Amino acid sequence: MSTLLLMAPAAAHTKPGHPESYERLRGLRPFLQQHHILDEVGLISAVPATYQQLTRIHSRNLLETIRQTSRDGGGLLDHGDTYATAESYQLAELAAGGCCLAVDEIMRGRYHNGLAVVRPPGHHAGRSRISGFCLVNNVAAAARQAQVAHGAERVLIVDYDVHHANGTQDIFYDDQSVAVISTHLVAPFFYPGTGQFNEMGTGAGYGYTFNIPLPPHVGDYGYGRIFTEIVRPAAERFRPDFILVSVGFDAHWRDPLASAALSLTGYARLGQLMVDLAQSVCNGRILFVLEGGYQVEVLHHGLLNLLYTLLGRPHLADPLGPFPQSETSIEALLHHLRRHPFYRQQSQ
Ligand SMILES: [Zn+2]
Repeated sequence: MSTLLLMAPAAAHTKPGHPESYERLRGLRPFLQQHHILDEVGLISAVPATYQQLTRIHSRNLLETIRQTSRDGGGLLDHGDTYATAESYQLAELAAGGCCLAVDEIMRGRYHNGLAVVRPPGHHAGRSRISGFCLVNNVAAAARQAQVAHGAERVLIVDYDVHHANGTQDIFYDDQSVAVISTHLVAPFFYPGTGQFNEMGTGAGYGYTFNIPLPPHVGDYGYGRIFTEIVRPAAERFRPDFILVSVGFDAHWRDPLASAALSLTGYARLGQLMVDLAQSVCNGRILFVLEGGYQVEVLHHGLLNLLYTLLGRPHLADPLGPFPQSETSIEALLHHLRRHPFYRQQSQ
């Protein structure tokens, strides 16, 4: 089994004091080195996305807004907290281009699977709207690359960042060839406020957006059941040619921005489940793309464990242990989720 690792940590896309900064990834390389994992993976370098790769998923207007803001030396891109520096446009091109290159490598069979550790993150970037610390939607660029450059008919995107994949949903909302499954926390005042169960897609894409909104404090047990009983069987019936995972580590119980309850052990199980799924439906072709995760110890251990999983090694590092309280029950939710057309239609 060969695994690629792409790192584009975007040191110059940083705003002091902002939770989404280079500080998240600064110590990652030495950390991985210390665990002797870098010798076992194929390190590949990112290349900038072409304009064509970006316009497959974003409006020219949106791209121009980011480019101009960078040209002007940087600034805010939305009314919230999404910033660009003078280097951000180029770094966003690099993150998206790196993900496309990783897809190329896996689709050509040079690597079995892979992990793209990129910044800025992407899953809140919609076709023509920027938000949530995201500039260019890396995972969406990767999905289109699999289709356009390699003829993949169906691509599955699974997003278990704690925030709703509103940008990814927006880009593929009317598209039946790219299914988007997102598990996320939905709570009062919690960003971005979308991702309700009844947002299911439109037109030909109806039924191919599968939102799984979770109450606070769902952890290893709840996520485990949702992925085993709902996500996996539905995804198997979809028969994707390629699987992309938007992996955010902010659903960990220690994350400062959210209130989900996964542990590092729970995360490792989800990673294994996705790798097994890829093995059963698409010859193991899977790429994990980093989104959020704002507690550095969680983030680094989570990425290390993911590499162990991709390499097929039975190691697991969980220095933080399980959620110290009891989890919220999801029994009623499981029942509800079985009514979703993505779960039902595909099973007929
Ligand atoms: Zn997030």
